Amino acid sequence: MASIFTRIVNGEIPSYKIAESNECYAFLDINPLAKGHTLVIPKKEVDYMLDVDDELYKTLFSFAKQVGHAIESVVDCKRIGMIVFGLDVPHAHIHLIPINKASDMSFSSPKLSFSNKEFIEIASTIRKAFEDQ
Ligand code: AMP
Repeated sequence: MASIFTRIVNGEIPSYKIAESNECYAFLDINPLAKGHTLVIPKKEVDYMLDVDDELYKTLFSFAKQVGHAIESVVDCKRIGMIVFGLDVPHAHIHLIPINKASDMSFSSPKLSFSNKEFIEIASTIRKAFEDQ
């Protein structure tokens, strides 16, 4: 069965899209640790990041770097933290999280909640920054 992220890439499930390339897709995490918390995935479904082939791995991290720069240009933060867990969704993904201190990346912290309108606005602001790079 296709992963939930493959279904997002295929447009079967909605997402707050940030950017896409031939191989990669970036969208807002719906349970964000911070405003602008974004997931970057390969369109090709591979469960485990360490199983992603070298070429796609480089492409994915290079794409994530561009997305990260777009996020930090519009979200107030010190840095963009990058983390890979993949314990919940079996489709390799990089979390890009705007942070000011290490604890901002703690997944045991309560998640933020945004309205649909707010998610749309955040995504649109980051998307524009990405396109303007
Ligand atoms: P993990 O696999 O542990 O890295 O966590 C999966 C992440 O995917 C969590 O932060 C979820 O909030 C996020 N997530 C799950 N389903 C969706 C979805 N439909 N749209 C956006 N983010 C999602």
